[in-house]
Amino acid sequence: MNFTERYDEILTKIEKARLSVNQHQIVKIVAASKSADAAMIEAMYSTGHRAFGENKIQDMSEKVHALEHLPLEWHFIGRLQTNKINQLIDLNPFLMHSLSSFELAQEIDKRLQIKGKTLNVLLQVNSAYEAQKAGVLPGIAVDTYMAIAATCKNLNLKGVMSIGAHTEETTIIQKSFETTYKIYESLTSKGAKYCSMGMSGDYELAIACGSNMVRLGSILFK
Ligand SMILES: *Cc1c(COP(=O)(O)O)cnc(C)c1O
Repeated sequence: MNFTERYDEILTKIEKARLSVNQHQIVKIVAASKSADAAMIEAMYSTGHRAFGENKIQDMSEKVHALEHLPLEWHFIGRLQTNKINQLIDLNPFLMHSLSSFELAQEIDKRLQIKGKTLNVLLQVNSAYEAQKAGVLPGIAVDTYMAIAATCKNLNLKGVMSIGAHTEETTIIQKSFETTYKIYESLTSKGAKYCSMGMSGDYELAIACGSNMVRLGSILFK
């Protein structure tokens, strides 16, 4: 199967998954391009795809600069070290999915203030309760979201993001997605627009649980 055929097959699966939830459930695909080089991203762009996600600032910086001639939409989906905040801001990402704590929000907001800029962000929620995963725990997610919204004037909170539980057990993965969706639902009245969850192995399940943004890597770039 070539790239276009594989992409079409994924689109068909997403279409089916979203229609089984709700006709109005529009799902956005972010291509997690960490394993793709600039040429592969350009090839994918030529099929009509625009949104790409990187999880390392250095890689993102190289690709953003190499592909400056294209109208791409860049998403940051990885862990952000404090010493890389300025670099991220200077890359003008469309959306940061991985705002993982109140403290990080304060740090980013401070730098944004100095630069006179704003940044769209999602609050990452550790709905799988896994020590190796970043994000705030579900029990404090709504309060943290509201506290960030109240104190970080240069951050535009747009919703939540989660990585599904790391297990083969579907019911446990589903539970983690349902937890995130519930949090998202309670924040839509506060302006939340995106519920970013679902990767190559679990995107159909994530959509069934209400995701409207999936981050796909290995199934696109294998
Ligand atoms: C790499 C990555 C993805 C995509 O993972 P695949 O399993 O390859 O689809 C999604 N989200 C984050 C945060 C990632 O780092």
